[in-house]
Amino acid sequence: MCVEKTPWELVIDFHGHTCPDIALGYRIAQLAQREMGIRPAPDSECLVKAYTQSCALDAIQVLNKATIGRHALIIEETHRYMYQFHFTGTQDIHQFTVSPVVLDHLETLRHPDLSPRERQNKVLEGVQYVLTLEESAFCHYDKIPGQLSKIV
Ligand SMILES: [Zn+2]
Repeated sequence: MCVEKTPWELVIDFHGHTCPDIALGYRIAQLAQREMGIRPAPDSECLVKAYTQSCALDAIQVLNKATIGRHALIIEETHRYMYQFHFTGTQDIHQFTVSPVVLDHLETLRHPDLSPRERQNKVLEGVQYVLTLEESAFCHYDKIPGQLSKIV
């Protein structure tokens, strides 16, 4: 029997491990899909600008198909968990900013002196936290007029 992989499984396979940060990217990627709706035209591309490089970007590459290789993922390192999504040919930027409260909470789960098992439990706790947190507490969404363009 052939069972299709869930989006979560696809993301974890690509990323190579499970971590709170990939959960964060997974959630942002799904919210972006919902807010952006279907691709407006066959030749329209999803471009993403991220304001920090982290594990989260792998979920966005898999789910939104905004990949580094196609120059569709632009990274400007400012250490802010802010992500802008744009379909080429439209005039909208969908911007998601992860709540600082979320990032602070995830930081508290990191301790240098944990056993591997304790560390694994904290990772799972962080993933669960990110995936189940109420949306309004998780991130802030803005739809702003504008465009992103590829850096080629
Ligand atoms: Zn990771």
